[in-house]
Amino acid sequence: MKIPFNKPYLAGREIQHIVSAAYKGHISGNGIFTKKSQIFLEERYGFKHALLTTSCTDALEMTALLMDIKAGDEVIVPSYTFVSSANAYVLRGAKIVFADSCSHHPNIDLDAVEQLITEKTKAIVLVHYGGVACDMDKAMALSKKYGVYIVEDAAHAVDSYYKGKPLGGIGHFGVFSFHETKNISSGEGGLLVINDSSFSKRAEILWEKGTNRSAFFRGEVNKYGWVDIGSSFLPSDIIAAVLYGQLEQLDEIQHKRRLIHSQYDELLKELHAKGKIYIPELPDYATENGNMYYFLVNSNEERNRLLAFLNANKVHAVFHYLPLHLSSYYTPFHDGRLLPNSKYFSDCIIRLPFFYELPHDWVAKVAETVFRFYK
Ligand SMILES: *Cc1c(COP(=O)(O)O)cnc(C)c1O
Repeated sequence: MKIPFNKPYLAGREIQHIVSAAYKGHISGNGIFTKKSQIFLEERYGFKHALLTTSCTDALEMTALLMDIKAGDEVIVPSYTFVSSANAYVLRGAKIVFADSCSHHPNIDLDAVEQLITEKTKAIVLVHYGGVACDMDKAMALSKKYGVYIVEDAAHAVDSYYKGKPLGGIGHFGVFSFHETKNISSGEGGLLVINDSSFSKRAEILWEKGTNRSAFFRGEVNKYGWVDIGSSFLPSDIIAAVLYGQLEQLDEIQHKRRLIHSQYDELLKELHAKGKIYIPELPDYATENGNMYYFLVNSNEERNRLLAFLNANKVHAVFHYLPLHLSSYYTPFHDGRLLPNSKYFSDCIIRLPFFYELPHDWVAKVAETVFRFYK
């Protein structure tokens, strides 16, 4: 049997909660499981205000609306990321100024970002790649100095920390994904965290299709109506029921995922020591959250051969992120800077199978197959 790259799983009471949501007679948005999930995440991570969304993409689009991004604005986004980190702002007419990764880690190179800031810069988007924190002190210093917003794309980064502070809770906004491939999943799903409370009230309105329905249900206004722009960003309570089932098992899931990560590390460190592969080091301000396992090889040609070898030997390994500045959609708008580190990570990365139920003997088999390639 081929070892799959990812596999969705049930960790606890997901099915029970779906049934319970159905019997309670409220399966549309903002129901009991939505509230339970939001409160859970607010309490666990000290987030001021959390709103479930149908995806991380939706949460990113909400940040674009909240920051009033419009034509003429510039948003700095790493080139090495998923399209949504940029597309959410392109939808509002912004120009994306792509930033390069660090040379030694896929995270955005914050030392090179300052020179990209202009009067038109509205926001900097950071991606905590593989759940490993960007240097948030540097990011927040730039925000303060230039008056730009910081959006943490924490799609990989649930339950991970920067100097003891939960990721997604430091910038003006944090966004999370509960897509099937992420640590915690409801199939599709996401979360917007609003850390600057001045956006809180408006966020709820945008979330509820431009109406003040949430305030109405709290009894703060005596009728609700159309008060702003908005869309339907809130998930069905059935989706929230699945999510809540996973959140209840968060510690167990995270324990398991971190264990798998350390098993891979232990098995592959010899190849790293011999210079065959490169495993980025964890900065001392960051934590490992068991989001994925990846390493770099020495060339694109070697990467493709290793991928083919793994797949021929029943290990489904993958690579990802074609640099966005080289994408067919955005190339015509890009200013021509080369961004070599983004290209390097795209060319040389290998991602190994990684999911909650991955047994240790499969981890061992994957590592052994990588070793065989280098024999
Ligand atoms: C997965 C991912 C997204 C998109 O998440 P969805 O929930 O699928 O919309 C955005 N940014 C990053 C970095 C991601 O990995």
